[in-house]
Amino acid sequence: MALLLTAFFGDPAEWRRLFAARMPELDVRIWPDVGDERDIDVAAIAVLPHGKLKAFPKLRMIVSLLAGADVLLSDPSLPDIPIVRAADPAGDEMMNEAALVHVLRHHRHLPAYQLAQQRSEWISLPRLRASERKVGVLGLGTIGLAVAKTLAAHGFKVAGWVRQPRQQGEIEIFSGREQLPAFLARSEIIVNLLPLTPETRGILNKETFAQLPAGASVINLGRGGHVVEADLIAALDRDQLAGATLDVFPVEPLAKDSRLWRHPKITITPHVARRINAADLVPRICDSVRALAAGRPLENLIDRSRGY
Ligand code: NDP
Repeated sequence: MALLLTAFFGDPAEWRRLFAARMPELDVRIWPDVGDERDIDVAAIAVLPHGKLKAFPKLRMIVSLLAGADVLLSDPSLPDIPIVRAADPAGDEMMNEAALVHVLRHHRHLPAYQLAQQRSEWISLPRLRASERKVGVLGLGTIGLAVAKTLAAHGFKVAGWVRQPRQQGEIEIFSGREQLPAFLARSEIIVNLLPLTPETRGILNKETFAQLPAGASVINLGRGGHVVEADLIAALDRDQLAGATLDVFPVEPLAKDSRLWRHPKITITPHVARRINAADLVPRICDSVRALAAGRPLENLIDRSRGY
């Protein structure tokens, strides 16, 4: 088996060492040193320029190194073969931590106290216990569910919004477009962890902001394309929203002249919610390659029609 890898993070030598230890028989080619394109059976990639995957006539499976497959799926010439995600089904502990720190920060009004400090103003905002704070997580997938559980374990009243109705322990579930308004109306802090699909693009907009309680906060850890920037700024400027934390942007890095940088109620983190490790991904890539080779069912499959 020959595997094409885009080692978009980490040291290529480290990737090779990890694959050699786990699956020495695997022939690993690191982009752009592909060798003979006819050899490649599997591509484990984050992103490749559109059209490149067409060059591999024997390609039988794509492994997405990223949790979100939006960029991959946007390639109009993507071959019609299975796409699996290398993401850990248990979620990502750094995403749990990122969500928790941002929720706590909004819960305890730190952005407002920072602004008050700049004005040397002694103010006192309502102090709520976590159990009195309602947090809503949009998307309870691999990453979103672990985040929701982390927030619930911290004492927050957590609800999640998904596509398919289900029971989920202590997390209250809202599903489908028809239950979105009720989910938003009960959520004082929302954390977006949806995949970017045609259905979710622009979902954080003036209509959805208006359905949140007055003074709600928005944390976007999903994709930049989920937020309608002008609507966010308008909602913050009219105090409909108290604040926003943005980790992801439609174009990254965010342009120097973006008005988001300078908005007093916006906190920007430059897509740093988590760190992807080669050591975490290699065992799962190898499991998928073995399943493919043995003709076993593939796990963590992306459904192209849903877009995630
Ligand atoms: P999954 O693909 O595992 O899960 C997606 C979740 O979103 C599911 O719960 C799904 O519902 C829900 N969903 C999808 N479409 C809709 C819809 N139209 N209406 C309601 N719910 C919907 O995603 P992950 O949890 O692994 O990751 C989520 C996203 O987080 C990634 O796609 C990526 O964009 C982002 N991300 C950002 C990172 C960062 O560094 N900031 C790092 C990693 C991920 P259902 O369960 O019913 O199918």
